[in-house]
Amino acid sequence: MKNIHSFDPEVAASLELELNRQRDGLEMIPSENFVSEAVLEALGSVTTNKYAEGYPGKRYYGGCEYIDTIEQLAIDRAKKIFGAEHVNVQPLSGAPANIAAYEALLDHGDTVLGMDLSHGGHLTHGHPVTQSSKIYNFVRYKTNAEGKLDLDNLREMAIEHKPKLILVGYSAYSREIDFERVQEIADEVGAMTMADIAHIAGLIAAGEMNNPVPIFDIVTTTTHKTLRGPRGGMIMCKKKHAKAVDKAVFPGLQGGPHENVITAKAIAFKEAMQPEFKEYAKQIKANAKVLEVELGSRGFKLMFGGTDNHLLLIDVTPKDVTGHEAETALDKAGITVNKNMIPDDPRKPLDPSGIRLGTPALTTRGMKEDEMRKVADWIDRAISARNDDDELSKIKAEVEEMTKNFPLYEKLSYTE
Ligand SMILES: *Cc1c(COP(=O)(O)O)cnc(C)c1O
Repeated sequence: MKNIHSFDPEVAASLELELNRQRDGLEMIPSENFVSEAVLEALGSVTTNKYAEGYPGKRYYGGCEYIDTIEQLAIDRAKKIFGAEHVNVQPLSGAPANIAAYEALLDHGDTVLGMDLSHGGHLTHGHPVTQSSKIYNFVRYKTNAEGKLDLDNLREMAIEHKPKLILVGYSAYSREIDFERVQEIADEVGAMTMADIAHIAGLIAAGEMNNPVPIFDIVTTTTHKTLRGPRGGMIMCKKKHAKAVDKAVFPGLQGGPHENVITAKAIAFKEAMQPEFKEYAKQIKANAKVLEVELGSRGFKLMFGGTDNHLLLIDVTPKDVTGHEAETALDKAGITVNKNMIPDDPRKPLDPSGIRLGTPALTTRGMKEDEMRKVADWIDRAISARNDDDELSKIKAEVEEMTKNFPLYEKLSYTE
């Protein structure tokens, strides 16, 4: 990266520090991942220069013939991977994809049934701090006492509130979702169905989790979590919603699409179609299972009773520690997780009872079951030693030693 380095050493220095942070630590935030070098190259490609308002073949700018080919490749690959009738690859990220989906399907004031944030839902699913919550009438459902998604309760609430849209798919929920049953409930009450697969898209792409795309009216996702593409969003839907979705994204919500990101999406989708990606998704789940067993046996309380996917939501208060304290201690030990609310959390969002962690990024680095056993042990040790900075530094050194065996962007440097 000679040009950054010679023109702007200040930025280059910080980039190098960030690169080394990613290399040296254990990245366990379940919504993060490491993209391939091909995806990185695409993000820095010349397609960043191009305005292309509109859609392939119907643009408001000249010179879009090659951009059209690239965007169409991204669309066709996504259709094939997920079995989608229609795909829009222009949403800038997951949150705008959801806003556009609501706008495509709903009138202002319509009722949406979505999951409560502390039970695993996402802010964009109607949390009172969002703009969407002021536009639509969100009713929140919760997981049951055992922590599972309670579809009988969902049905009762659907009958009571007559929503126009039922929304499933979550940010901190670790269990499989029965999309067919949700569709039956929706049919019974005359509602449309939306799944937000932002977290699990990669697992679905690999056939490792249930796929709502062939069943539901509309499915939104990010492309940068388990799908391991560039930071961005995508909407998939039935043909009958195609026009409304495209209009809601542009000109409804956005201007010119970020074609460099769409270029990177096309490449990431090709990667997701390779046999290696299937192995990757299997290993993500196997690694999460090891953490479930190892952390469970060390006295951590696993919400939802464990995991079927890539993440674990853990109540750390039985260890006499808060989510914030656990996050801070783990940070000092070189392990990055995030504090998180647990269902009906009696504590506040900035210092909740839980932490959320996952395996997609570590699995990308090539770590397997043996490494996960070490990771579980470090997590337990670091939380126990939260007031002992010497011990935390010792763990950090052990972590760094291990991560050296799993090189990341080996030839990349921002300072030479
Ligand atoms: C991450 C996430 C989003 C938001 O994606 P951004 O790219 O951060 O805007 C939306 N929905 C769910 C379920 C998510 O997990």
